Amino acid sequence: MSAADCIFCKIAARELPAQIVYEDADTLAFLDINPVNPGHTLVIPKKHSADVFEIDDADWIAVMRTSRIVAHALEKALKTDGINLGMNNRAGAGQVVFHAHVHVMPRFKGDPHSLWPGKPYAEGEFAATGEKIRGALN
Ligand code: AMP
Ligand code: ZN
Repeated sequence: MSAADCIFCKIAARELPAQIVYEDADTLAFLDINPVNPGHTLVIPKKHSADVFEIDDADWIAVMRTSRIVAHALEKALKTDGINLGMNNRAGAGQVVFHAHVHVMPRFKGDPHSLWPGKPYAEGEFAATGEKIRGALN
């Protein structure tokens, strides 16, 4: 897939809507539309690269840094009991969107070991969850 057809490049360019919770010069963090739990966030490099094999060192470090910033925000905003970080690389590992992204996934005591696949937000919950996380980042 070229960067021109890439949905995450379009989110980074503000050509597609998203609940963006954090951004810096090199990365963007926005809510996954099918969260395993509310607040499930994707962290991407703004510059297109397909996966862990293709991303350059500077973007990899930037994505890791942002993932940790988001983890702190989710804990504060949503009172999580834990956070999973995950990344699917290549179709053989279940990757569906071929723009490198790290999943930052809130976990709560008693939730099932495997929460996949995620399910859509209820009406109104998407924007409210984004607002809550942005609030924890200020
Ligand atoms: P994967 O490539 O397997 O890591 O999965 C891609 C993830 O992107 C899935 O969890 C989808 O729910 C999520 N996703 C797909 N399209 C969008 C979108 N437009 N906005 C936010 N998340 C998305
Ligand atoms: Zn892209």
